[in-house]
Amino acid sequence: MRDNIAACRTWVVKIGSSLLTNEGMGLDRKAIAGWAAQIVTLREQGRRLVVVSSGAVAEGATRLGLKAVPREVRMQAAAAAVGQMGLIQAWESCFAEQGVHAAQILLSHEDLADRTRYLNARSTLVSLLKLAAVPVVNENDSVATDELCLGDNDTLAALVSNLINADVMVILTDQDGLFSADPRSNAAATLVATARAGDPELERMAGTGSRLGRGGMITKLSAARLAARSGTHTIIANGRRPGQLLKLQAGEALGTWLSADREPVTARKQWLAGQLTLKGSLTLDLGAVSVLRKHGKSLLAVGIIATRGRYQRGEVVACVDESGNEIARGMVNYNSGEVARLLGQDSGRIAELLGYAGEEEIIHRDNLVLTG
Ligand code: GLU
Repeated sequence: MRDNIAACRTWVVKIGSSLLTNEGMGLDRKAIAGWAAQIVTLREQGRRLVVVSSGAVAEGATRLGLKAVPREVRMQAAAAAVGQMGLIQAWESCFAEQGVHAAQILLSHEDLADRTRYLNARSTLVSLLKLAAVPVVNENDSVATDELCLGDNDTLAALVSNLINADVMVILTDQDGLFSADPRSNAAATLVATARAGDPELERMAGTGSRLGRGGMITKLSAARLAARSGTHTIIANGRRPGQLLKLQAGEALGTWLSADREPVTARKQWLAGQLTLKGSLTLDLGAVSVLRKHGKSLLAVGIIATRGRYQRGEVVACVDESGNEIARGMVNYNSGEVARLLGQDSGRIAELLGYAGEEEIIHRDNLVLTG
């Protein structure tokens, strides 16, 4: 599996806050220069790289003399506005020393939730890569709200991997990878060298996060699962150790490799799967669950038992089984009031029940992606 790395042309490299800010002591310019130099070498070997850089909030807190990283969202937003300046200056100058342009991209939840804005972000990233600049991406924390934020940069890196169809997403963190148990408290814990992204067994092993960044191992695992939808493999490696990116490229078996072993879903379906907030849910009966899972068919009203939430035609909802587990998500052809009238009904009766003829299916299979 791992030797695939030689064939990985497009990389997303995500670097966490504690690495970038020296555990909250201020930006680690030497480390940033080290990653920039490795990235430039990889580019010279014909690879395309996008950096997802955390550290704005942590650096802002340091600059503002705050005792700890703020918890309150507006204070985080304010700290990020200050810290992002330093962060991007550091990346800019480290790449400039190597004769390479860095490009700042700040993305918000809405940029990725809205299909047109999503496609715009993709074109910009692709254009930057064509122009041989290195995009340095972060969440636009200054305009994020509690409800509408991407939340953590592991998820952001996975969504960026989907956007550009990355071959590999490297998550540099302050641990050597995923361990079978928490290595800080269990001496018998061993490093998981390779596994399948999305394997439920992995979540049992994962512990909690650090005090600076937002993502823990669980978040990294769900990011790996999301990235796998574009066929992107994930590597979790220790960014404190020097030369990790080049060593990975040279085929050294570092960190944890989480392989994306299924066929990538279409770009449209990746976008659907990557939606972080859903407008409602449809509860399906056993028959509909199995038809969706095994046969990849469209969702018809006859298999829907209940509808929750208020949604409009064209919005994305979850499809859950009777125990509430998410099976799929998709874009609905009818609004919530109409779906409520169609529950359990044969598609042939739609015109009679609604007073007009619409689509035969509640969610067409082209707009439906399996997620569970
Ligand atoms: N966007 C946040 C920052 O730059 C980091 C989020 C995270 O820790 O994953 O500070």
